[in-house]
Amino acid sequence: MAVRRSSLGQPPVREVRRRWHEERSLRRAMRMARVGYWESYSAAATDFWVSSEFASLYDLQTVDGSIPIAAMQERHLPESRDILEARYSACWSEGRPFAVQTRLRKSDGSLLDCVVHGEPDFNLSGQVQRVSGIVRDVTLETSALQRLAESEQRLADFVSTASDWCWETGPDHRLLPYPKSLDGNAALQAVASGGRARWELSYAPEEESSMACHRADMEAHRPFRDFVYTSVGNDGSRISICTSGKPIFADDGTFIGYRGTASDITQLSVARALLDQRTRALEEAHRLGKMGSWNYRLDTGRTAWSPELYQMLGLDPTTFEPTDESTRPYFQDNDADRLLKMQKRVLRSSMTEATDIRVSHVDGTTRDLAVICKAEIAHGKIIGIIGTAQDVTDRKEAERRLEQLAYTDPLTGLANRALFKRQLATVLERSTSEGRNRALLLIDLDRFKEVNDSLGHSAGDSMLTHVAAVLTQELDPQDFIARIGGDEFAVLTDERCTSAKALLILANRLIAKLSVPVELAEGEACISATIGIAILPEHGATAEKASRNADLALYMAKEAGRGRAHLFEPIYAQAADQRLDLGRRLRHAVETGGLKAHYQPQVDLKTGRVSGFEALLRWNHPERGPISPSEFIPIAESTGLIVDLGHWVLRNACKQMRSWLDAGLPPRSISVNVSPAQIWNGDFEAVVSTVLAETGLPSELLSLELTENLFVDHTKQKVSSSLAALSKLGVQLALDDFGSGYSSLGYLTRLPFNCLKIDRTFVDGIATVPEKRKLLGGIIALSHGLGMSVVAEGAELAAEVDLLAAFNCDFVQGYVFSQPIAAEQAPLVAANIERETRWMKSKS
Ligand code: C2E
Ligand code: MG
Ligand code: MG
Repeated sequence: MAVRRSSLGQPPVREVRRRWHEERSLRRAMRMARVGYWESYSAAATDFWVSSEFASLYDLQTVDGSIPIAAMQERHLPESRDILEARYSACWSEGRPFAVQTRLRKSDGSLLDCVVHGEPDFNLSGQVQRVSGIVRDVTLETSALQRLAESEQRLADFVSTASDWCWETGPDHRLLPYPKSLDGNAALQAVASGGRARWELSYAPEEESSMACHRADMEAHRPFRDFVYTSVGNDGSRISICTSGKPIFADDGTFIGYRGTASDITQLSVARALLDQRTRALEEAHRLGKMGSWNYRLDTGRTAWSPELYQMLGLDPTTFEPTDESTRPYFQDNDADRLLKMQKRVLRSSMTEATDIRVSHVDGTTRDLAVICKAEIAHGKIIGIIGTAQDVTDRKEAERRLEQLAYTDPLTGLANRALFKRQLATVLERSTSEGRNRALLLIDLDRFKEVNDSLGHSAGDSMLTHVAAVLTQELDPQDFIARIGGDEFAVLTDERCTSAKALLILANRLIAKLSVPVELAEGEACISATIGIAILPEHGATAEKASRNADLALYMAKEAGRGRAHLFEPIYAQAADQRLDLGRRLRHAVETGGLKAHYQPQVDLKTGRVSGFEALLRWNHPERGPISPSEFIPIAESTGLIVDLGHWVLRNACKQMRSWLDAGLPPRSISVNVSPAQIWNGDFEAVVSTVLAETGLPSELLSLELTENLFVDHTKQKVSSSLAALSKLGVQLALDDFGSGYSSLGYLTRLPFNCLKIDRTFVDGIATVPEKRKLLGGIIALSHGLGMSVVAEGAELAAEVDLLAAFNCDFVQGYVFSQPIAAEQAPLVAANIERETRWMKSKS
């Protein structure tokens, strides 16, 4: 195709210039618009005439302004190539213009989005004589459109997946229908369907005033944020909606409506309501449970208290700032430091810890708080402490009252044995850790039983109360006093009184004060006290050892004659060990028959006859030789061995007398000593009746010797019923050692004794001491008056025998006639005594 020239010949220069100018402008415009021009003169043409812009768009070389159609077609991507061809052919055949969107691949591989336009030129006969058109590079527009489409899609994706939705209103505030369907109940559908202003929709009646405010905001074209209201659907369903919006104005400032977003916060509201409800319930529980809480943040170093905690201390939350220093005055003892240390531990270890503390309320009362501390952890790091404090004053008070009941002796109000044990352990612990001495005094009342028995139990109670009062008055308030048994008291002295001298002075002062006769409602009573002292921890670092050693000191003081105080000495422990050893050996002797009985004759002062024998135990210790029963009987008693031992003597003595009877010797009584433990523990009556049955000894020949110790520490009931049963068996009952102990005549009148044995200490000296003589005469006469016979023990002098005879004493048992002798010698010794006492017979 060539540029056609005017057939009218050369145009004038001006005209040429104008055309040239026009053509240049046109070309420039085409280049700027990225448009190429093309022409085809025949449906069968193989070339197109194209403008240079066309050639450059197709990246093809022109030959005389033409390019081959085939080369051009090559550039089109296959998907648009066929369409283009078809439309181009149709334009020739049917005269239809076309516009086809197509893509070109240039020789460098880059792609161009193009639109190819074509339109026919008709000749006068209406046939298509030429097709021309343009190709337009729309790559830039296409990519912009594509980006727009992508961004719209993104937005649509966000909107469709978000639970929020967007809304718009017109200037009349009526909501435009939401373009997409919103899944949800009728209330949500009502909102989405639009057509009405928000306040024209159904909403919760209680929100009327807040909706009115909202309406005023919108009508004043003010933006709003997070307006929450409840929309109600036709079916009554409700949803909570939170919405924000802003007014939209046209360029000229005309208000054209609102745009905004909204979200369905029904679930959030329900959760929040539940949370509020739970928080209120928790606060109520805290209030009822008197529970407060606090937290401490490491980053700020600040502590925050709950209102309940302020209430617990009576502090004002508006003025009181809780810090370590400001709270310190409200803690008692060293609780502030203790709590601080605990919090540090919790921060280090992140373990939860609990403790009880005591605090002072501003009203002056003391409160007990149970505190729990826990590390607060966020993202695996300790960020502070949270703690709770519960007011447990009532519970603690009840516990203290209970403890007081559990640890107090109700009669005297002093601590009881349980508390004493606990206190002793505490004192020892403190003495050891502080390196300061303290002392333990064990106080045993002497003759207390006497008061009880002679004046009655209420007198005994009054006496114990009196003793408690004396001790409280004489001792320091820091000293700890306890009643640890019937008539036993214990004192733990404060560290100020711990020297041996000071302790003995103190103990003797106590004894002196306790020995003063007391005027009780029931009559005057006089007791005394014996005290054993151990210095702590020197005389025992454990509670057991300390008690044992104080007890040993007490034992020694009693042994030394009561009414005195002894300080523990290591030798006492040795003596105790010896006693222990003696006990072991004694048991062995009992089991292997290493003991035997000796017999001491009792002489009838009226006839001079040996009326009976007293069986007395003898033990020949393998190393120490003979050991006195006065030494080993108490050991046998304290170890419980006495029961077996006593039964052995009983059986042996009865057998012995039986064999003497069988040998033709005259019937004589056999006296057997009976320890209280034999009566207290077990069925002694049955033992006696069995022995009598076994040996065939007539019961009236057996005399059981009992001492007043029988009545100590034991219910009279059991003792008197046993004695009655024994008496019923027909055996004789003798009260031994009368005059050495309490010598209460009360026993004699109430209990079925047949005989009274006057103690050796009483008989000793009657020849020289007139008072003793008088008393002796009185006792003998009294005993006779009560229907009892009298045996005087321990007469060593003939003068004493004469005096006893003169006082009408019935029997005498003493060295004056014979010492206790082996069974084999007894008949002979008895015969000798009877021979020598013929003078008596002659006298009578
Ligand atoms: P008792 O039952 O009062 O026995 C009398 C004690 O006085 C005996 O001491 C006897 O040897 C001693 N005696 C008697 N006449 C005289 C005297 O003229 N001068 C002196 N100085 N002493 C005299 P013995 O045998 O040493 O017994 C001491 C105590 O041991 C007994 O006192 C008794 O209480 C207890 N006893 C002895 N054998 C037994 C026993 O088999 N069972 C129990 N439970 N106790 C026993
Ligand atoms: Mg005796
Ligand atoms: Mg005696």
